[in-house]
Amino acid sequence: MLINGEWIRAASHHSFAVYNPANGAVVGKAPAGSADDAILAINAADAAFSEWAETPAAKRAAILRRAGDLLLSREERISQLITLEAGKLLRASRKEVSAAAEFIYWYAEEGRRSYGEWIPDPLPDRRLLTIRQPVGVVAVITPWNFPAYMIARTAAAALAAGCTVIVKPSKQTALTGLAVARAFADAGIPPGVFNLVTGDPNAIGNAFLDDARVRKISFTGSIEIGKQLMSGAAKSVKRVTLELGGNAPFIVLSDADLEKAIEGLMAAKFGNAGQMCIAPNRVFVHSSLLDAFLERMSLKVAQLKVGSGLDPGTDVGPLINNSAVKKVESHVNDAIDKGARVLVGGHRLIEGTLASGSFYAPTVLADVTSDMRIAQEETFGPVAPVIAFEDDEEVIERANNTPYGLAAYLYTRDLKKAIRIAERLESGLIGVNDTRIAAVEGPFGGFKQSGIGREGGHDGLASFLETKEIAFRV
Ligand code: NAP
Repeated sequence: MLINGEWIRAASHHSFAVYNPANGAVVGKAPAGSADDAILAINAADAAFSEWAETPAAKRAAILRRAGDLLLSREERISQLITLEAGKLLRASRKEVSAAAEFIYWYAEEGRRSYGEWIPDPLPDRRLLTIRQPVGVVAVITPWNFPAYMIARTAAAALAAGCTVIVKPSKQTALTGLAVARAFADAGIPPGVFNLVTGDPNAIGNAFLDDARVRKISFTGSIEIGKQLMSGAAKSVKRVTLELGGNAPFIVLSDADLEKAIEGLMAAKFGNAGQMCIAPNRVFVHSSLLDAFLERMSLKVAQLKVGSGLDPGTDVGPLINNSAVKKVESHVNDAIDKGARVLVGGHRLIEGTLASGSFYAPTVLADVTSDMRIAQEETFGPVAPVIAFEDDEEVIERANNTPYGLAAYLYTRDLKKAIRIAERLESGLIGVNDTRIAAVEGPFGGFKQSGIGREGGHDGLASFLETKEIAFRV
């Protein structure tokens, strides 16, 4: 682990294995850190804070840019690691590493633009000024589905703002976390400014919550853990950014370009084997297009090749582990029991080389209804559940009828409808005739239980800054 600029083992001297979801093989081992290690990291981050906060933004930017350069120069090695740990297609892992570097470069620059204001004052003998200062020590807890990108997205913004960080990556992708930490360390980031602790999520998480020196928790992961952290953060009123799960509606109106809609759905639903927080989870298709949609979609999904992410011919890789496969199975079986029809897939894959991995067949379900678990919960797998609708008001109401609110997609050729419906969908991100909704420059985050706060763009930097008002007698 990286604590105070040194590479150290866990205090317990224990380690844990990381497994390849494509074949169950051990990829490597990482230190089994616990509360003691987290406290060491908090000590280091706290001690390093004042100097880093006072370091000129331009100097911080230079270090961040070097970290971005190093990530890119190690792209091939880190991409292999992501594919081995997370099962992602190698070409997608490469894109992830480039996108992670892009975040670091962008925040290196944005950190130089954290301006204050001189405010017109109502009193003649006073002047009001604001400055923006870093929040302090930040704990960054990240998931396995974008193991390099998520660390970069959050840590780069925090570091650019002048905060010091302790990253806790998912155990399932701990080695990628360590590789990202190495890029920051090798870039010359001062000791204690970037720390990374691998290991027991509960113990490390509680150490963060119990320590008032940790001023902010930035968490990306499930709603369940997000709620626990939010409640624990209340003890010392820590700031929180929560990037949580989604249940994205994908709406195809009667005037939509069907081919474009199917193309968008294929990318957003089957990319990363459906394991994306913004993946469409409920596909609403107008009844006039339903038969054509199901027929064309099924043909495409049936052609997807499932296998190891290292094989260039693979379209869909494994799920992260066996419990992820079980969750997908239980959603599909529940839907079938309640009357859904399986048009393609609908089962786990255990033939030949797939037997030792955690693979689920790309699936299309028709006749899905709102009472099915697959329509209510985040499935996080390669399953497209298709739901028919009759009119626009009905679909807006059904799309919003969920505690989630991360992403939503709308396909229509009618600009007026696109604007009016986009305004009414209760989601932080809306794709109109497109599913590419994430950008370094844009604010990413959810409405309702999908989260609090935004990452990316100016909002991402602002979330690591406090605004201070200074009043001068003149
Ligand atoms: P998770 O179980 O909540 O895990 C996320 C992170 O929290 C991991 O590092 C995990 O460690 C850690 N963790 C688990 N229990 C903890 C505890 N008690 N205290 C502190 N940390 C704890 O989520 P996941 O299932 O891995 O990730 C998938 C979820 O993330 C989905 O719901 C997805 O939609 C969401 N997600 C959201 C976004 C977004 O930007 N909104 C992006 C990506 C993913 P271990 O993994 O070692 O247990």
